[in-house]
Amino acid sequence: MMNEKKIDELKSILASPKKIVLVPHRNPDGDAMGAALGLYSVLVQLQHEVHVISPNEIPHFLNWMPEIGKVSIFENNEKEALQILNQADYIFALDFNILARTGEKMEKALENTAAFKIMIDHHQMPGDFAKLIFSDTAFGSTCELLYTILMQAGFLKYINKDAATCLYTGIVTDSGSFRFPKTNSSTHNAVADLIEKGIDNPQIHNALFDNNSYNRLQLLGKALQNMVLLSESKTSYIYLSEKDLQQFDYQKGDTEGFVNYGLTITGIDFTAFFIERKEDAGIKISFRSQGNFDVNLFARRFFNGGGHINAAGGNSDLSLEETINRFKEIVKNYKSEFYV
Ligand code: 5GP
Ligand code: MN
Repeated sequence: MMNEKKIDELKSILASPKKIVLVPHRNPDGDAMGAALGLYSVLVQLQHEVHVISPNEIPHFLNWMPEIGKVSIFENNEKEALQILNQADYIFALDFNILARTGEKMEKALENTAAFKIMIDHHQMPGDFAKLIFSDTAFGSTCELLYTILMQAGFLKYINKDAATCLYTGIVTDSGSFRFPKTNSSTHNAVADLIEKGIDNPQIHNALFDNNSYNRLQLLGKALQNMVLLSESKTSYIYLSEKDLQQFDYQKGDTEGFVNYGLTITGIDFTAFFIERKEDAGIKISFRSQGNFDVNLFARRFFNGGGHINAAGGNSDLSLEETINRFKEIVKNYKSEFYV
């Protein structure tokens, strides 16, 4: 049971029409957009004035989501976004734990608003920017956490087919199609209810996972060819340079899921994926692990990042080659310290 007082506080906030802004993290994934658009469809029925503002462009593999056309992009129209943010009574932070996850400029804008902030998130170590915090790392996705909150608030009846489609999207993507360790009976019970709401679950999987461009698969091939094994450290990594991305006409979202391949090799419990993307200024890194190797702590300590025990991300200002060399040194010398 979620803290009852918090649920009551949320219910009383939502009891009369409010100006509400829903914000996913930068480079939003299926879970962040699922939570934002799912909550959008619920709150609209409750007569609120609702806006969704994404810090930056939404990856194309999510472009079919219900109500995606209503989303404003902060980066593309700062003036309009600032206006909406500054008029908001309430801002929901969805699928992120610190404002910095929205990027430098939007972080500032969010800090400067007077709006009451509500966090719904499942990452470790939540910050204190929100007045009402629903943060629970036991959940495999923010969408499942949101479903549970809506259930406890008595709002399940407002989860229509659109909202259910969005929540299902977040649960499927963040659970690796129901295979990551936090997937439990509650997850499947939530999903059973979402299917009862009339969603077309095979179609959602199809839209998410069987929508490859030829170039994307060729880029995956390149990434797999670039894989390096550090067998003694039970570690693997892959990388893509700016040149690799150009060769295969990289589109935002094309590398989603690539990082997981490094973990599918027998005996490997830690993998990293380095990507040299113009839009990120520097190297963006994804980390994944199996078992009790804590990539959240690893990313925090060495790569200015964070996340969860088995999935985290970080950044580096060094060149791609220097970043990888540093990674190899760190793995050799410090990996053993991050088993929890
Ligand atoms: P991904 O590798 O899929 O981008 O991210 C994996 C997980 O780590 C996600 O839950 C994401 O929110 C978190 N994460 C990714 N990059 C960063 C980062 O730079 N900083 C922090 N604190 N978390 C990150
Ligand atoms: Mn998530």
